[in-house]
Amino acid sequence: MSTLPLIFEKSTAGKRAITFPKADVPVTPVEELIPAELLRQKPAALPEVSEIEAIRHFTQLSRRNHGVDVDFYPLGSCTMKYNPRVNEAVARAPGIGFTHPLQPAETVQGNLKLLHTMEQWLCEVTGMDRMTFQPAAGAHGELTGVLLIKKYHESRGDSDRKKVIVPDSAHGTNPATAAMAGFEVVVVKSNPDGTVDLDALRQVVGPDTAGLMMTNPSTLGLFDPNAKQIADIVHEAGGLIYYDGANMNAIMGYARPGDMGFDVVHLNLHKTFSTPHGGGGPGSGPVGVKKILEPFLPVPTVEKVGEQFVWDWDRPQSIGKLHGFWGNFGVVARAYAYTLAYGPELKEVSEYAVLNANYVMAHLRKYYDLAADRYCMHECVLSAKSLKNEVGVKTLDIAKRLLDEGVHPPTIYFPLIVEEAIMIEPTETEDKATLDRFVDAMIRIYKEAKEDPERVKSSPHTTVVGRLDEALAARKPNLRYRAE
Ligand SMILES: *Cc1c(COP(=O)(O)O)cnc(C)c1O
Repeated sequence: MSTLPLIFEKSTAGKRAITFPKADVPVTPVEELIPAELLRQKPAALPEVSEIEAIRHFTQLSRRNHGVDVDFYPLGSCTMKYNPRVNEAVARAPGIGFTHPLQPAETVQGNLKLLHTMEQWLCEVTGMDRMTFQPAAGAHGELTGVLLIKKYHESRGDSDRKKVIVPDSAHGTNPATAAMAGFEVVVVKSNPDGTVDLDALRQVVGPDTAGLMMTNPSTLGLFDPNAKQIADIVHEAGGLIYYDGANMNAIMGYARPGDMGFDVVHLNLHKTFSTPHGGGGPGSGPVGVKKILEPFLPVPTVEKVGEQFVWDWDRPQSIGKLHGFWGNFGVVARAYAYTLAYGPELKEVSEYAVLNANYVMAHLRKYYDLAADRYCMHECVLSAKSLKNEVGVKTLDIAKRLLDEGVHPPTIYFPLIVEEAIMIEPTETEDKATLDRFVDAMIRIYKEAKEDPERVKSSPHTTVVGRLDEALAARKPNLRYRAE
């Protein structure tokens, strides 16, 4: 395969994808519609191609990319499951996809009912009392949740609570969120088995504790059975507890943050509830709260008054508005279709997600190190530390070699607390044959690393481009075509 020319390089002056017939009605010249100072001095430098050239260009580009529609995508922490196409059809239904966010509530009763119903369902899944759909993604949900906690303390005149405790097994967004919301972050270490060190926690909680943010299952893919105790310790000190529920795919129908004593939780609908994601969205990170936090929820909420659904803006203690209009409503619509299709069988999603991750771990533990020797939840964390020490082949090399096998590499070098980490999340939508193919590839790479380490270190060998300078690509991406 050769590199693809840019669409600008394919441009030929005067070519058009679509030509419109000459107008047979009077046309107002653009100069009469737009003030002269706002008009371009010369035409925009757009590529000029025919329709088939445009289609071929973007189809060829898409073939150079990896997606879950192409092959296995075990990107740990991202839940790259297959998203049933019917959810797309629902999100595009005329009454859902083609309504305007400024339409009066009485003309979009169905959409308000969808939000209201989804709120009830997700409260049922999480054990919470109310939910907001404003946050656009997980990290945005975290910010919402932490602002709710802040407002709660403020409303009680409890102004000395400046610290948020975050276990070191939390997702990286947790400490970032707490800092962004103006709190001081206090990190608590994990025990060797990946659970939160309760004694260490007891030492840091106090009258300055605003709350604790817990990712459960943690970034090690492990469930912390002491969650309830952790909640109790923080509550006794007067703090509130935040549950990062982005990993809900592991526990649906089995465990609820609300029952574990948590006050606020966010979900990642684009992970667990089936919306295609990656490449920047859109997502949805609804936040569920217990009654004590309800007065502070973002405006507006959806309320049912008699048989009517209405927007409620009259919430004097609200933290305000966090997103335009209704949040990313299309993502909620997909999640609604997904939840409706599964019903109580949502539980099986978690069963198979956990089974698949443990299947992969059981086969690979003979070759790679384990982050913790326990059953994992929806993802397993391995390490190539021994391999690196023995033959100098690193996790990065293994990830690159996997590209030659046609699968997307797992998440690497995350979580940060595991050296040479390889974080594998197969998801429930993959069958045994796919898992076996992946396991075989990982074993083949392991053996190759021992026999011919250079072959692994110089991979990938079959992709269009080889190894990139990743720091340069991330820091100084060259994404803009500059016309002459
Ligand atoms: C993905 C993830 C997040 C962040 O979610 P975004 O939608 O990417 O902002 C937070 N916590 C955990 C545990 C996650 O897996």
